[in-house]
Amino acid sequence: MKLILLGPPGAGKGTIAKALMKMDGSVQISTGDILRAEIAAGSKLGQMAEAAMSAGNLVSDDIIMGIIEKRLTQDDCKEGFLFDGFPRTIPQAEALTVLLGKMDIALDCVLLLDIKNDVIIDRLTTRRTCTNCGEIYNIKSKPPKVEGICDVCGHDEIVQRDDETLEAIENRLQVYQDQTAPLVSYYEKRGNLVRSDSSELDDVLKVLQTKCLQAP
Ligand code: ADP
Repeated sequence: MKLILLGPPGAGKGTIAKALMKMDGSVQISTGDILRAEIAAGSKLGQMAEAAMSAGNLVSDDIIMGIIEKRLTQDDCKEGFLFDGFPRTIPQAEALTVLLGKMDIALDCVLLLDIKNDVIIDRLTTRRTCTNCGEIYNIKSKPPKVEGICDVCGHDEIVQRDDETLEAIENRLQVYQDQTAPLVSYYEKRGNLVRSDSSELDDVLKVLQTKCLQAP
């Protein structure tokens, strides 16, 4: 599939992308994960992105488009890709439309995970992430089997991200409203937006299978 996953932070884009990836071999392209890897590696790009990210603000469109252009030309994207956390601004969406046109790639659809703010805040303040492999836990609904130890890689640092404090989350939701929510009408006008008000995989699959061309 060639899909954009759209929705507020904590809507479940990453979880859905990972599940879809297992089903049909498309690759997840998460700009947040790519940026965090750059920061961990201490690269110049990481240094440029770090301050904006820890405050919950957006990284510049130029940096993001550089990452996407490089990533989309890699071979593993040929079977399909799932954009998770990209595009996040109208300029990014416009640049993506141009880029896909140049590469002769058509999107199947844009899936909006339409999840309410109170659900999001509860999910994000209880979310924890393994600093080594990025596996995501939730202290209420999905704690690691052994407290403090990652089920996947055995690492012993499972933390609350800097941008997952209540203050940073409220800022991220505001940033979403101001800068990303306008993408809903951008894609609606292009006729390829589909909506799910649930982030349960079965519900999302039903929406994709009834409304999106290449759904698994
Ligand atoms: P979430 O989806 O949980 O909000 P992400 O992991 O997608 O978090 O993103 C974390 C941070 O990385 C964002 O708050 C922002 O600072 C930066 N970021 C990620 N993707 C983009 C993007 N497409 N444009 C600008 N900034 C981005």
